[in-house]
Amino acid sequence: MDKNIRICIVGGGPAGLSAGMYLEKKGYNNYTILERQDRVGGKCWSPHYNGRRYEMGAIMGVPSYYAVHDVEEFCGITHDGPQLNRNYKDANGNVIEPFARTLGNIIRNPWLLKMKGQLKKFGELLETKYKGYDLNGHRGVAEGRYDGYAVTPGREKVEGVNPNLKDLALPFKQFCEMNGVPLVQKIWIGPFTSFGYGYFDEIPAAYVLKYLDYQTCMNFVKVNLWTWKEGTQYIWEQLNDHLKHPARLNSTIEKVERKDGKVFVTVNGEVEEYDKIIVTAPLYIPNKRADGQKGMVEYFDAREDEIALFSKIDYERYDVQAFLTKPENHPEISYYVFDNMEPEKLGHLMVYYRRWRDQIDQVITTYALRKHKNSREIPYEECRQMVQDDLKIMKNPAEKVINEWSVYYFPHVFTEDYAAGWYDKVEAMQGKYDTYYAGEVMSFGDMDETAEYSRELVDRFF
Ligand SMILES: Cc1cc2nc3c(=O)[nH]c(=O)nc-3n(C[C@H](O)[C@H](O)[C@H](O)COP(=O)(O)OP(=O)(O)OC[C@H]3O[C@@H](n4cnc5c(N)ncnc54)[C@H](O)[C@@H]3O)c2cc1C
Repeated sequence: MDKNIRICIVGGGPAGLSAGMYLEKKGYNNYTILERQDRVGGKCWSPHYNGRRYEMGAIMGVPSYYAVHDVEEFCGITHDGPQLNRNYKDANGNVIEPFARTLGNIIRNPWLLKMKGQLKKFGELLETKYKGYDLNGHRGVAEGRYDGYAVTPGREKVEGVNPNLKDLALPFKQFCEMNGVPLVQKIWIGPFTSFGYGYFDEIPAAYVLKYLDYQTCMNFVKVNLWTWKEGTQYIWEQLNDHLKHPARLNSTIEKVERKDGKVFVTVNGEVEEYDKIIVTAPLYIPNKRADGQKGMVEYFDAREDEIALFSKIDYERYDVQAFLTKPENHPEISYYVFDNMEPEKLGHLMVYYRRWRDQIDQVITTYALRKHKNSREIPYEECRQMVQDDLKIMKNPAEKVINEWSVYYFPHVFTEDYAAGWYDKVEAMQGKYDTYYAGEVMSFGDMDETAEYSRELVDRFF
């Protein structure tokens, strides 16, 4: 492709900014990043409080975040944040140690004895029966193939046939039961459901395992995690500062028309001409949102195939509140509440996070999900109240909520569409209308998978 082509990138989050970085690395310098907000980072949002930054969005990474590591190297920064620590409470606010192999715990939870064996079996199954399961993106999975880049520092290109991979379209719960390892869900649920990615009876195993491949999940278990002192937003602020063309903030895209091999973008009232466009912003949002975010099908001259496919996308209603407490009510550490991670406990507090352990006047953040595929959606205010009531039960009541948001989170498709080859159909559309689709839905909703997908997109098409 001609290195001088004009490329428009929609969105200044991890996917959009890293698309800019990888394009630059490949010699494409004629790109423009349009960001609708007055800041970069998207869901990596680290506001300031009392001289420090707390996390409203992304918090952590793992050592296999190779694309994030590329960004760190590009900018000369590193993961220098506070060590993560956690403990567990039951729904009544009592501190528990669910995984401790004490006599009392084993009597209360006899499954503990079986879990280790199932975990070992699961690790072996993933390496053998499901070879190729952990590549970034979803190309070929529904057809029983793998096609992508290995999750290794060298990220070698790999391809192959493995009909078993079709099982990954099943909800994770069914996938585990079918493979005789139901108890591993008790380990995977912490960094999955409480991190807002939905429930195991509704989310295809592919999403669960591409994000929480065996090694990544074990890093969570061992708390072998990365954080950033200035917050995850800092990674993307730094990247933005190091790009030849930093994102243009406060860009309102009114219209995108694709005709005669050109892309016309009306932004803040002016028409701009490009040759190609990469969309990292939401492709489809099934409802009207209070924050005014729209799916691309609403402001693009969307074609029938785009509308038909993208209207299958749903997302998680994941709510974050940042609160202050009285010093005597400050939690000692972050707590996970496993009892509240089941669909029956929709809307309840699943985890709360204390970032700065050396300061008790800093902000604590809470996390709750309020929609399940097969049940009602809990209204935002109701869920907000439920979480605050839960904090009282946890003996860490909120004195004051200082920040909150309901996130457009983890766009994905469900089993039927996944199995019917949704991803291969969208991948076949890449470039068709001089348009490329990237961002969360194309891989998975975390910083690294989205940045990695942008890397691969640039590698494959530019
Ligand atoms: C509470 C929470 C906790 C999380 N924890 C972690 C974690 O610990 N680790 C991890 O790796 N990930 C975590 N994530 C997920 C991670 O933040 C996202 O997956 C990642 O930011 C996705 O990057 P993206 O660029 O695809 O999308 P986004 O971050 O959503 O960025 C998209 C950008 O596009 C912009 N945009 C939208 N519409 C338009 C438009 N029409 N025109 C122009 N711009 C537009 C948005 O303003 C935004 O800046 C968390 C997210 C949240 C919310």
